[in-house]
Amino acid sequence: MGKEQEAGSATGSGGARIVVVGGGVAGLEIATALGKGRTEAIGSVTLVDSDSAHVWKPMLHTIAAGTRDLAQQQTTYLAQASDASFAYQPGEMCGLDREAREVLLAPIEAPDGREIVPGRRIAYDRLVIAVGSGANDFGTPGVDEHCFMIDSRRKADAFNSEIRLRMVRCMTSGEQLRVAIVGGGATGVELAAELVQLAESARAYGALGEAARFGIVLIEAGPRLLPGFPEEISEATRLRLQALGVSVIVNGRVQSASEEGFVLASGEFVPAGLRVWAAGVKAPAFLAQLGLETTQGNQLKVNGQLQTSDPNVYAVGDCASFTLPGASVPLPPTAQVAHQQARYLVETLPRLLQEPGFRPEGFAYRDFGALVSLAHYDAYGSLGKFGLFNGGVIRGRMAMLSHIMLYRSHQARIYGFWRGGLLWLIDLMNSRLRPSIRLD
Ligand SMILES: Cc1cc2nc3c(=O)[nH]c(=O)nc-3n(C[C@H](O)[C@H](O)[C@H](O)COP(=O)(O)OP(=O)(O)OC[C@H]3O[C@@H](n4cnc5c(N)ncnc54)[C@H](O)[C@@H]3O)c2cc1C
Repeated sequence: MGKEQEAGSATGSGGARIVVVGGGVAGLEIATALGKGRTEAIGSVTLVDSDSAHVWKPMLHTIAAGTRDLAQQQTTYLAQASDASFAYQPGEMCGLDREAREVLLAPIEAPDGREIVPGRRIAYDRLVIAVGSGANDFGTPGVDEHCFMIDSRRKADAFNSEIRLRMVRCMTSGEQLRVAIVGGGATGVELAAELVQLAESARAYGALGEAARFGIVLIEAGPRLLPGFPEEISEATRLRLQALGVSVIVNGRVQSASEEGFVLASGEFVPAGLRVWAAGVKAPAFLAQLGLETTQGNQLKVNGQLQTSDPNVYAVGDCASFTLPGASVPLPPTAQVAHQQARYLVETLPRLLQEPGFRPEGFAYRDFGALVSLAHYDAYGSLGKFGLFNGGVIRGRMAMLSHIMLYRSHQARIYGFWRGGLLWLIDLMNSRLRPSIRLD
């Protein structure tokens, strides 16, 4: 019996219990769609997340810079669960009992170390793991202690709290604020541009003292920014960032980080009062301990039906590694891949449970290209090759609008068309009525 065949049978009485771990781009879309469109074959849909609220991850650099307000952009899981008819369980997955079909959750502790909820288990018939990924410091000395990362809602918010404190210091003492960002991929580039916008607005509000200067340095280990994009976009981005006042260092491999800045392999020292690590991608380490097949970067290897080496356990998004037939490298960890894989499971899982003979076709990926946004200054995009499109590059308003649409379509999938549209309208009104950066 093939793997997908095994997974298609045995739904259990009263419908299958579907557990989705990780309510990010992929997981929240799956829980919402399966919860709203529940069929008889689905007994329950439960979403587990270690956080209490979701923020669309590709906007975390704006939360970090404070050019968007976290409170206005987040979706609390409890409210979403009630709207979309799924159950939400707070907790961090730390293990898996595949024989008993139970997800193991770590105890929940208060910041002061008190245990609030003991460790527990959640039973499933089908499990979808969608726990995403984080930045990878490649073991570089000092990064853990001295650098911020912006790869989760809490970490982006923590960076923003710190930058607001530093702005108070600038305002009162005129001190310089120098931020260095490591990683010239989309995250680092977008954060650098967003910090320029922050500095521009802060200056207009008088939140940076007269003598204060806001310096931003972007350090990339490779020979060009945005290595995943066409070269002309890399070059245009470098020139645009430099014109905005960002110092760009390429071929700058960081050897160590300290409270004063970064030491590069060349021996050069890059001083920085605030340091951000936005390089590399790594899936959570616990995935390698589940007894499932993983890559060196802890991603769960999946087949064409997005099943891991256990046919009842699926993996999607950044934490999954899938190589399309005929391709030499796995799909990249992007929101576009996460969304399309979520869509695939939303379409196939209910039918697998309902129709014993159903054999889904393998996951097919449509590459719509990639976008990078330089705050309100500019945006660039490479178009995918499909249908009548044969690649190409866009920039300016067209690329900015496409970038905005990525977020707004995610919101429409979570909230529905009308509510998503209203939230967009409210954001537009807020952008006229409220300060353009967080000043609290
Ligand atoms: C600043 C930034 C900018 C980006 N810009 C772009 C872009 O422009 N375009 C693009 O395509 N991609 C972009 N990306 C990448 C994109 O955000 C990811 O590819 C996408 O979010 C992956 O979706 P996911 O569902 O796999 O994981 P995520 O969206 O990361 O969601 C993972 C979820 O799992 C939860 N979780 C993690 N561990 C556990 C655990 N042990 N137990 C329970 N829950 C857990 C987390 O709280 C989170 O809610 C960007 C990323 C960053 C950080």
